[in-house]
Amino acid sequence: MPTHLRHLITLQHLGAETLEHLLDRAESLREACAHGTRRIDLLRGRTVLNLFFEPSTRTRTSFELAARRLGADVVNFDITSSSTSKGETLLDTLHTLEAMHLDALVVRHRESGTPEFLVRHAASGVSIVNAGDGNHAHPTQGLLDALTVRQHRRHFDALTVTICGDVLHSRVARSDVHAFQALGVRDLRLCGPGALLPAPGELPGCAFSDNFDSAVEGADVIIMLRLQKERMVATLLPDEAAYFERYGLSQTRLRRAAPGALVLHPGPINRGVEIASEVADGTQSRILEQVANGVFVRMAVLAELLAR
Ligand code: ASP
Repeated sequence: MPTHLRHLITLQHLGAETLEHLLDRAESLREACAHGTRRIDLLRGRTVLNLFFEPSTRTRTSFELAARRLGADVVNFDITSSSTSKGETLLDTLHTLEAMHLDALVVRHRESGTPEFLVRHAASGVSIVNAGDGNHAHPTQGLLDALTVRQHRRHFDALTVTICGDVLHSRVARSDVHAFQALGVRDLRLCGPGALLPAPGELPGCAFSDNFDSAVEGADVIIMLRLQKERMVATLLPDEAAYFERYGLSQTRLRRAAPGALVLHPGPINRGVEIASEVADGTQSRILEQVANGVFVRMAVLAELLAR
């Protein structure tokens, strides 16, 4: 039996057994709620609070739907109208929200480490779920990417996975690496302009390259990343047309990958910058499947943390 989780901050060190258990749980919840049309009252009477300090479309909506489909009460804490923008500290915000009674706090923050900080200070009954912190981790994205791949390919150890783009600033890339390595992927390639790649020591076991044509060669799974301009200093900003030329996933470049390679992207996508529209909307794209899987993965995580 995998160890019981109290919080979900990162996938690093979770181990294959726990990851597979969460993916299995996401799959059985998908069946149980008839692909989203039926509600299951596993979390009736529990309160989930979405605390998002950075913009989000998919992740926040997906956590909200996940909690509602499990019968929980959901509150979205609007940062722009909150006291945090009036100078209240994060800890005051935490204790104020706790006083209203909550069971889980789903948090997104531009600074890496914020969810861990909240774990250290939250009341004992509150579970913290990381919905993306800085460039550190985005564990539910890593899980939903693994689930999407698992739906199409059973054996992770036989796969070549290429992650291309702004790896340096990407919490998605880090959580994907942790998930895929734990599940058995041995050929994991990270590709992007040299200035947008982390130091190899940060992600051991991955191959690093600044040449997308060779990094995509024979890949079974290609995960494209957005240029995270909000985390870049101006000198790192590449010219978009030149970037697409070298690092964009075009139909021509996709032909270098293994036949039927799966194309993933966490969104939001920038068409014509990191991915061509014909690929994003093409038959190999799994982007909308990722979005659908996101709800089931988040249901699995909330159920795991909160169900008594
Ligand atoms: N939505 C993902 C994240 O929050 C990826 C991105 O923003 O590019 O990290």
